[in-house]
Amino acid sequence: MTIIRDSFYINGQWVKATSSETLDVFSSGNGELFATIPAGTVDEANAAVEAAAAAFTSWSETPVKERAEYLTRVSEKLAERADELALIFANEVGMPLMLSKGVQAGMPTATFADVATRANEFEFEHEVGNSTIVREAVGVVAAITPWNYPLHQIANKVAPALAAGCTVVLKPSEVAPINAFILAEIMHEIGLPKGVFNLVTGLGPVVGEAIVAHPKTDMVSFTGSTRAGKRVMQIAAEMVKRVSLELGGKSANIILEDADLAKAIPDALFKCYLNSGQTCSALTRLVVPRSKLNEIEDIAIAAAAGFAPADPVTGMSLLGPLVSAAQQQRVRDYINKGVAEGARLIVGGADAPEGLEQGYYVQPTIFSDVLNSMTIAQEEIFGPVLSIIPYDTEEEAVAIANDSLYGLAGGVWAGSEDKAREVARKIRTGQVEINGGAFNLVAPFGGYKQSGIGRELGQFGFEEFLEVKSIQHN
Ligand code: NAD
Repeated sequence: MTIIRDSFYINGQWVKATSSETLDVFSSGNGELFATIPAGTVDEANAAVEAAAAAFTSWSETPVKERAEYLTRVSEKLAERADELALIFANEVGMPLMLSKGVQAGMPTATFADVATRANEFEFEHEVGNSTIVREAVGVVAAITPWNYPLHQIANKVAPALAAGCTVVLKPSEVAPINAFILAEIMHEIGLPKGVFNLVTGLGPVVGEAIVAHPKTDMVSFTGSTRAGKRVMQIAAEMVKRVSLELGGKSANIILEDADLAKAIPDALFKCYLNSGQTCSALTRLVVPRSKLNEIEDIAIAAAAGFAPADPVTGMSLLGPLVSAAQQQRVRDYINKGVAEGARLIVGGADAPEGLEQGYYVQPTIFSDVLNSMTIAQEEIFGPVLSIIPYDTEEEAVAIANDSLYGLAGGVWAGSEDKAREVARKIRTGQVEINGGAFNLVAPFGGYKQSGIGRELGQFGFEEFLEVKSIQHN
């Protein structure tokens, strides 16, 4: 049964779309129509910003304890609807159901709860000499989000923005938008004051650009491709708006000579293939000592067998399809390009996996003998494609890791934690995990270089939505 959404959430109510134009959302696992959503117009985007602007003064003056209570209720409602959300993610994103519930539904649930606690504990004022330093809400926030971890990326913006006292207009990805409608339902159900949270769906160049350009939008918090991020920043520059950008990545995972390969290599595959490689911080370049290349290839080939793709709803695999036909084609083109540029294909390839011709599947793929200058080592593929890049010296390994336009994440495996830390400090990225260190939902997340500006999550993510005022006194 196709889900049909025909309204936006503006000023505390569901408002029927004025245009009859709709956008289709497909089930990644079988390519069937999953949902349709309304394509918003510039007028609708403007109405949402006006509503957010009208709500700002009263919301920003609402005691932080009350604002935090709303967030706690959002977290509780998300937890109640976790199964329903997991099924939505398995369809619209394609992440296997068994991962979707914990990852795609679990992270935003935890983030809303964390931000509620954090806001209550935050010191909004302190004294410096004869000044009172006051932290206050930035204003109206335009939140624009992608499809790969859709509700996580929404929560990373909406939770801290609301806690800080900002009001929000959300433009979620048109590729995986149904989860955002669920969030809007929850906001309505908990009685969030009207205009504090608004949802308008549609295309980036229409709705996205309109909410960025609107004179009453004070800040843009964008997650998506570097290409669209640059456009957003250009538009925002016209009015010197605050911009926070979470963009692409091409992260390197350095294996040092004395690393425990039996642990490091299977973990490396998982960190590359999670969500079919559609993770901005995916460790897609495996930088290995040339002396260990054969051994590492053997372990990688064996480990890849554990990632046979399957249907995300009914299957029992860690690997599902890609999100869309366009994304599937893009990844296949990159695989062909890798072969054409002379990388050695050791696992997978551009053909659809056997028996999975419906839906947007791509075989888990590994290239070896990759040069860092090759397209597959420089550009973000956003698919289950790992590039093994050999090095001769540790300095060269670090240079390879840093030879990228991006600077989002990275990994280091070494025989000792001290050694891994030493190398981690040399990597120019916003995050580095050592010896498989787990993702931390309250550690700052964001990029150096063209991976973005600013940080999300935890304390840093909260402070992104605060202005700073100094009041001088006698
Ligand atoms: P995208 O840039 O195509 O779209 C992201 C969002 O921006 C969507 O809502 C889209 O409608 C909107 N958009 C597109 N053009 C726009 C414009 N001109 N003005 C305003 N909004 C516009 O990205 P995507 O394909 O949805 O997501 C994949 C990309 O997101 C990858 O590059 C990935 O690395 C990146 N990403 C980054 C992070 C991070 O935290 N750094 C996290 C997840 C994804």
